[in-house]
Amino acid sequence: MKYLMAANWKMYKNRQEAQKTASELFAKIGTMPEDRELVIFAPFTAIETTAESFKKNGQPVKGFSVGGQDLYPASEGAYTGEISPGMLIDAGATWVLTGHSERRAIIGENNAFVGQKTAFAMNAGLKTCLCIGETLAEREAGKLNSILEQQIKEGVKDLSEDFNPDDFAVAYEPVWAIGTGKVAGVEEITEAHNLVRSVLIKLFKEKGKQIRILYGGSVKPDNATQIIKLDNVDGVLVGGASLQSESFAKIVLA
Ligand code: PEP
Repeated sequence: MKYLMAANWKMYKNRQEAQKTASELFAKIGTMPEDRELVIFAPFTAIETTAESFKKNGQPVKGFSVGGQDLYPASEGAYTGEISPGMLIDAGATWVLTGHSERRAIIGENNAFVGQKTAFAMNAGLKTCLCIGETLAEREAGKLNSILEQQIKEGVKDLSEDFNPDDFAVAYEPVWAIGTGKVAGVEEITEAHNLVRSVLIKLFKEKGKQIRILYGGSVKPDNATQIIKLDNVDGVLVGGASLQSESFAKIVLA
């Protein structure tokens, strides 16, 4: 299983900025180490230019991928403002995020809708990273296990049985650690990731052992090495520290 080192650029970077950061990253990393791969979840308008920046002699380079941050679960139609998996693929994306906590909290996406998106994306041929995580209030109310279990179950409820586990990942991102500088402690990360793993095994048997579980929430160059060494941590999803090539290259090579 390769580590998945993922960047979430959120609503930052126009095409020129994306091109600059992606090219710098490409140069700084050079050949991607065999045990890992990188994906940049770019704003829709910057997907194409980011994917182009990861090519050599016009060909995509192994280990460098681009994804969208969201999709609408339909191939096309009267869905003003939305984007389909086919459009993401056409722009150069091979991955997509579903259920990011900012979409849940700000846009109001619920588990059922996130589940529809996840299955639709996978069926359309996009590798998919389902984001889950509890708020501070939920954690303090002792609801960590039930919230995560519910988010996973509903998030995968329509996935077809025969999906490839390499094409699906779950990102555990405690909401209180996203963009706050508060990184979850080693014990908190281990507890949550073990729980996620046990739910995945309950749902998918052997295949559940091969699904990558990423940690997200204030990952920085100085904590990334410690985090990816933990059991059941198969990569990271990085917001703030992925915006500069310098810091994200350090994390990718952690
Ligand atoms: C994120 O947006 O998924 C995230 C983890 O952000 P940050 O690294 O800034 O906490």
